[in-house]
Amino acid sequence: MSRPAVRAFMHRLSEVFPNPRTELVYRNHFELLVCVVLSAQATDKSVNQAAPALFAVAPTPEAMAALGEEGIAPYIRKIGLWRAKARNLALLARQLIERHNGEVPDTRPELEALAGVGHKTAGVILNVAFGQPTLAVDTHIFRVSNRTGLAPGKNVLTVEEELLARIPPDQIMPAHHEILLLGRYICKARTPECWQCPTAKWCLFSEKNLSPSEKLRESSGQQLAKDLAHVRRVADESVAIETVTEVTEKVRVTVEADPPAANQENQEDCQES
Ligand code: SF4
Repeated sequence: MSRPAVRAFMHRLSEVFPNPRTELVYRNHFELLVCVVLSAQATDKSVNQAAPALFAVAPTPEAMAALGEEGIAPYIRKIGLWRAKARNLALLARQLIERHNGEVPDTRPELEALAGVGHKTAGVILNVAFGQPTLAVDTHIFRVSNRTGLAPGKNVLTVEEELLARIPPDQIMPAHHEILLLGRYICKARTPECWQCPTAKWCLFSEKNLSPSEKLRESSGQQLAKDLAHVRRVADESVAIETVTEVTEKVRVTVEADPPAANQENQEDCQES
């Protein structure tokens, strides 16, 4: 996608999603960090269902550390990878207390040094909690970036670099959620809803989807065309059969009226023998 198209694409997204926010429910940086750690390979919905009960008993790093792995586990059992996440949250809480006085740090190296915090989680915290112009490429952003030609790349780091290089600096901060929301609600994995996509004009995806009613119209049209072709073929064959029958009849009448010379000779030969 050309640079002007990227600008137009992002501008349109900012009109469609004027105040993009994470859908995770949290009250402070610590809770946000816990939610983002829990959301790895899980849905925001499942995290939002489980987290309030956990935060009711462990609203601070101190309380979370005191709860420990065994105490955290029952609250997050319905979230994928819950054993590892319970272990990481207990350790993460202790690390926040020991290294950062219980505060969530605002630099990538410090964040990535915490248990359960990888490159993507750190990117989300820097973007959402501290408003830094960075991105975290999740499954939706990866798919949309490649499918649309916005920032093609074979892995999430390449896509992240491409997005940071192509999107104007003042649009990077909101871009994270704008692209994510486009992917989650419109440019879906299995059936992208291209017929109602606000950025279709600039998207380079070659197999854009029609709406269900357009698909129906198109398939009805195709069926009608097939039916018509069939009727024509049958009609042509009928005409051909009629023509052959007529010609055969004409030949028969002609032969009977005026037998060919060869036939006459043959008849004579027969008579001689
Ligand atoms: S037009 Fe289709 S493929 Fe392109 S961004 Fe929109 S939904 Fe996705």
